[in-house]
Amino acid sequence: MDIDQTAEELASDLGVDKEEVRDDLQKLVEYDVPLEEATQSLRRKYGGGGGGGGSAPSTKDVGAVSTDDASVTVTGRVLTVGKRTIRYQGDDFTIFEGELADDTGRISYTAWNDFGLAEGDTIRAGNAGVREWEGRPELNLGDSTDVETLDEEVDVPYEVGGDRSLADLSPGDRGRNIEVTVVEVEERTIDGRDGETDILSGVVADESARLPFTDWNPRPEIEEGASLRFEDVYVREFRGVPSVNCSEFTVVTELDREVEESATARKLGIGEAVRGGGAFDVELVGSLLDVRDGSGLIQRCPECNRVIQNGQCRSHGEVEGVDDLRTKAILDDGTGTVTVVLDRESTERVYDGTLDDALDHARDAMDKEVVAESIADDIVGLEYRVRGSLSVDEYGANLDAEEFDRVEESAADRATTLLAEVSE
Ligand SMILES: [Zn+2]
Repeated sequence: MDIDQTAEELASDLGVDKEEVRDDLQKLVEYDVPLEEATQSLRRKYGGGGGGGGSAPSTKDVGAVSTDDASVTVTGRVLTVGKRTIRYQGDDFTIFEGELADDTGRISYTAWNDFGLAEGDTIRAGNAGVREWEGRPELNLGDSTDVETLDEEVDVPYEVGGDRSLADLSPGDRGRNIEVTVVEVEERTIDGRDGETDILSGVVADESARLPFTDWNPRPEIEEGASLRFEDVYVREFRGVPSVNCSEFTVVTELDREVEESATARKLGIGEAVRGGGAFDVELVGSLLDVRDGSGLIQRCPECNRVIQNGQCRSHGEVEGVDDLRTKAILDDGTGTVTVVLDRESTERVYDGTLDDALDHARDAMDKEVVAESIADDIVGLEYRVRGSLSVDEYGANLDAEEFDRVEESAADRATTLLAEVSE
């Protein structure tokens, strides 16, 4: 979604000035409020209430709630409850998010007030607003909603509670609990909504997958190698990849068991992986078609680490470049192509020489392109297995390779191929 487009739709829905709505949206998004929530805040601010007329809400089964409903009354079981703070115009709001279900279906909800919702409770939500999120209906429990906890229990064909494995997390999930081992963690200082803020970011893993995470309130328990239970995390999308987020309400406890890290990445066809919009830890196999420009010897800006051309950084102007090695290679498996990006270490391996060797090589030849050419001679036309993180965005489909290995045709494969040829 795009701010301009959202502002236009909101303004026309609510009958207010587009510029005003746009400015408000911009401000919220700068404060890291997801666009969807920002939109909802503005609907409340301008009194839209989710559109639609003033007709009384109808009582519906959860599975029957549609985006055409303005508001509904539903009875269901609370599957999950996540708690989070969002900031709007300088004020912090604590919201509760999760899923509600009956035997006909389940639906996400956001509660703007503390209704005391608890996992497993059966509730009747009278006059719950309905909004649309990615084409699906969601419930909005606010001032005009009347929430009642019932004694009778609604049976649901879904798991009650937020425990999930990493492979089952998707962007938009709230109130999830995970048990993981910390693979990597680093402390970073970011320019956040309260000025300079320290956060933790890194990678967590369980038996099913590896995912990136961010802890917005750094916790000392989160150390490399620790096996931890995280209660109440939410999941966002970052460059097409689900990322685990810990809020101030997330509870982190040490486990008395060791969580095993998944040893293998998800194996996908390239076309499938690219259409999926990205993946954190995937394995792709294909033929190396070409080595792209910008490979071999490159120079980076000493300030921002971006690759520079002719000593000019796009952000920092003329700078003293720092030499580095990198390879950008096109991998194809017949279903699609990605650009595989090898860092210095992997590039040194395929080049069979160090950065210093490459600098000598270029000096002797009086041409720095010889390094990229030598790399291309070694890898183009061969089959490779690549493991790493795939992002799909305006820069194309790029896979940052952590593993890059030649696929050797096994003797058995060769025999099968030979037999197939003979029998034709
Ligand atoms: Zn720079």
